[in-house]
Amino acid sequence: MPKKLVGHLTCPECDFADAEIAEDKNGHLYRYCPDCNATYFTRGDPKRTANIKKKMRPLAPATPATPTAPAGDPPPKKKGALEAWYEGAKK
Ligand SMILES: [Zn+2]
Repeated sequence: MPKKLVGHLTCPECDFADAEIAEDKNGHLYRYCPDCNATYFTRGDPKRTANIKKKMRPLAPATPATPTAPAGDPPPKKKGALEAWYEGAKK
């Protein structure tokens, strides 16, 4: 599962400007610094979550929940396996 990045903050350990704030598999915020590898887990603690949110710079702009695909024709059908095999065999 890819990590869900929600924002950045300055790493309190090494002052790296873009330490990552992401959600763990339980939806709790944690900080990961790619520069010094420091991590900080809130584990859903309300006080720690509030503190990390106070310092966090949220990602902007918010990304749409679903990728915006132009409405219209469905994507062209893929060739059947046998047809694809035949195309490959010709080369
Ligand atoms: Zn750091």
